[in-house]
Amino acid sequence: MIVTIDGPAGAGKSSIARRLAERIGFQFLDTGAMYRAVTLAALRAGLGDCDAPQIAALAETLAIDLAHERTILNGEDVSAAIRTSDVSAAVYLAADNLAVRRRLVKLQRQIAGSRDTVTEGRDQGTVAFPQAECKIFLTASPEERARRRHAELAARGEGIFEVWTDGLGPDEVIDRLEKIVREKMPKVEEQMSNVEGMTNPQ
Ligand code: C5P
Repeated sequence: MIVTIDGPAGAGKSSIARRLAERIGFQFLDTGAMYRAVTLAALRAGLGDCDAPQIAALAETLAIDLAHERTILNGEDVSAAIRTSDVSAAVYLAADNLAVRRRLVKLQRQIAGSRDTVTEGRDQGTVAFPQAECKIFLTASPEERARRRHAELAARGEGIFEVWTDGLGPDEVIDRLEKIVREKMPKVEEQMSNVEGMTNPQ
């Protein structure tokens, strides 16, 4: 049996899908991890916006394995490397590439095979497994999704600041950002002088 969990970012799909799979004894298919793995490989190969055919060709050669909650790319455990903000920011390189999508959907079907599977991702119930016996759309309000996304980044130690721009004009937003940047400035200067102190002992 295939259970698909679709829905917007921040609806909590990944963690819910993983835990549901555990609870009902199904394998969990983290399709986001696959797009992230292709993106990581593309960035490592120095590929970018103008290289869609090369990224598609690269994706064809990659061995992506999702065994035991880890993401293995060509034999290397990249579970942490695929979660950095650099990869998140560039994941469109894989996600918007139709040839990459075709390749990953094929791989997803292979991994699911005839096993009981919970799979998560925006195209799972429509493109990858249209025949799935159970399709779930998980969602939440935009505010709640933004709050979760922020908490997720903070938990990863990305040191991110939340700035709500509702009802503010550009100048007010810039005022707030300036304040945040200036608060960080002395720390940067302090670090620089520590480094200088270490490299140039008086
Ligand atoms: O779920 P996660 O944040 O790891 O997914 C990373 C990105 O991969 C998503 O933001 C989305 O752009 C892309 N993705 C996709 N199709 C899927 C799963 C993920 O395009 N089935």
